[in-house]
Amino acid sequence: MTTLRPAPKASTGAQAAAADQADRPLVWIDGSMLPRSQAKISVFDHGLLYGDGCFEGIRVYKGRIFKCGSHIERIYRNAERLHMMRQNGGKFPYTKSEMRDILYECVRANGISDGYIRLLFTRGDGSLGLNPFKCPVPSVIVIADQISLYPPEMYRDGMRVVVAKRPRTPTVCLDPSLKSLNYLNNILAKVEAIDAGCLEAIMLSLDGYVGECTGDNLFIIKGGEVFTSPLDVGMLDGITRAFVIRELCPAAGVKCTEKRLKIQDVLGADEVFLTGTAAEIIAVTQIDETRISSGEGPVTARLRGKFRDIVTGPSIPEN
Ligand code: PMP
Repeated sequence: MTTLRPAPKASTGAQAAAADQADRPLVWIDGSMLPRSQAKISVFDHGLLYGDGCFEGIRVYKGRIFKCGSHIERIYRNAERLHMMRQNGGKFPYTKSEMRDILYECVRANGISDGYIRLLFTRGDGSLGLNPFKCPVPSVIVIADQISLYPPEMYRDGMRVVVAKRPRTPTVCLDPSLKSLNYLNNILAKVEAIDAGCLEAIMLSLDGYVGECTGDNLFIIKGGEVFTSPLDVGMLDGITRAFVIRELCPAAGVKCTEKRLKIQDVLGADEVFLTGTAAEIIAVTQIDETRISSGEGPVTARLRGKFRDIVTGPSIPEN
């Protein structure tokens, strides 16, 4: 399934080894495992021209791919929504089970024990013009590397976030549950956060409900119970979010309810935390000028403790 095109040879064995090491990670593109410097796609790929494609961010713990099955299901569902299954004579180039093997191949090729995978399906090489069906075959790219989203001390101290002025794209225009290659709505809200001196922004729906952050889902704790807005407010159906609702809260003996949250609910919460594949679980201690808690609160700490126990434990959930 994969051919390895070696990097150009350096003059000595030691230099060659150093050059090989510098030219990492190895990136899998459409059946070839390529050194970083050679991992390139066409300028006519509609992923580049129009943000036409979808992606996943996936964690690897102890060499196992966390929730691998859920990520594969989500990206194939999104590829379907983008009509990618109508390309290539109606057959996506890889089955879900082949995709799983490719992800593991990439993790092993890069010697990753704890790390992060970026999986992309792009519309593929085509012509100028919007028609997606002029791109004969979608492209698949797998990058397995390291990630560190927030500094370690932030997990103990909590983070400050702002409320973005820019609302989340309304579901009727482009459903935020479609994890597409066009993240401009999120990126421009992220710039609002960066300009305010922090790293995340809460995004509201047009009718004023709390949806999610630019790259994380959001939960609150009030009176010892956990609440989060339902998916129909308009947000990504986060895999970490589902893990918190279905597995961590029951395991921690904490009640979790989906309820449409207004920003006042969040500002008046006892604790607030965010979830995401890269972020895992992280406390929010200040929103704009409002202090929520001093440091990570007890319920967040309990849920994060359970999460860390599972991902450092003997059986990493792969589905
Ligand atoms: N919302 C958005 C907009 C995201 O991009 C992400 C992923 N970074 C999340 C929520 C969290 O989703 P997951 O737990 O599946 O990573």
